[in-house]
Amino acid sequence: MGNFLVAENICKNFGKFRALNNVSISIPKKSIFGLLGPNGAGKTTLIRIVNQITMPDSGKIYLDGKPLHPNDVGKIGYLPEERGLYKSMKVGEQALYLARLKGLSKAEAKERLEYWFKKLEITHWWDKKIQELSKGMAQKVQFVITVLHQPKLLIFDEPFSGFDPVNAEIIKNEILQLRDEGATILFSTHRMESVEELCEYMALIHEGNKLLDGKVADIKREYKSNTFEVGLTATDETALLKELTANFNVGKANFKSITKDLKLSIQIKPEESPNDLLLYLLSKARVNHFVEVIPSVNDIFIKTVTDNA
Ligand code: ADP
Ligand code: MG
Repeated sequence: MGNFLVAENICKNFGKFRALNNVSISIPKKSIFGLLGPNGAGKTTLIRIVNQITMPDSGKIYLDGKPLHPNDVGKIGYLPEERGLYKSMKVGEQALYLARLKGLSKAEAKERLEYWFKKLEITHWWDKKIQELSKGMAQKVQFVITVLHQPKLLIFDEPFSGFDPVNAEIIKNEILQLRDEGATILFSTHRMESVEELCEYMALIHEGNKLLDGKVADIKREYKSNTFEVGLTATDETALLKELTANFNVGKANFKSITKDLKLSIQIKPEESPNDLLLYLLSKARVNHFVEVIPSVNDIFIKTVTDNA
């Protein structure tokens, strides 16, 4: 399918400080790519480089297979981290103005804005001044302006910060729909859950270095530890626990259940099969719960950062 956006060996220094150290990412066409990292990792710097606001010290950016060109800004929709709208202008007036700047005709701009305002149920904001809107409300308007010219590449810098959970969910669903309609999406976040919920691909950056990247499912497979969470009922639980501990790496587990289980996490060796574990457990107890533990993006993040420290 090919990559729509490629950043190759990007380095960026601010004076003596290295904000990005040889960072490369590739974003497949029509996918959602999450740039994950703590505050100060270098996410915004990379995004600003892709948007040609900041020049890298070295490295290259390719859009749809060709070196990025100043004219390409029109193909990109960019929601910056520092959101800026003119406070004293009215919402509708400003949206129309910014839409015209993106090359839409007046009629087109009006039609699309009406569509989006209706979709997000904000039509009644049209005649309000920006300064009358809350931070989240203004961000919703800016989201509309970002996607209005239907760019093939959408870049959202921390799109969920400033939103309450309900509006974050609305924006999340809009992002998924834009992807389904063919857009390629790059967004940055310091929130692991956003990556978990939205992304097919991710990169983890920390202190200017990329620590890992790839398909989220592949990364999870790589980081899984062959551990199973089990809920057991047995007549002599003490004896069972003793026997299990002698044979496996056993820990306590914590999950919700309606039976009074012995809740354990049991690790098997990579060459052992989950079926063997299950058969073994079935011969010793009633098995109420048996689930493989899949590492969360949060677990992976902590492990990667600790391993690199
Ligand atoms: P993130 O978006 O991941 O939180 P940034 O890319 O904004 O991080 O910043 C990465 C690092 O680069 C931070 O330490 C920040 O202080 C520094 N930095 C960013 N922009 C500048 C700048 N214009 N001048 C000096 N330092 C900067
Ligand atoms: Mg940032």
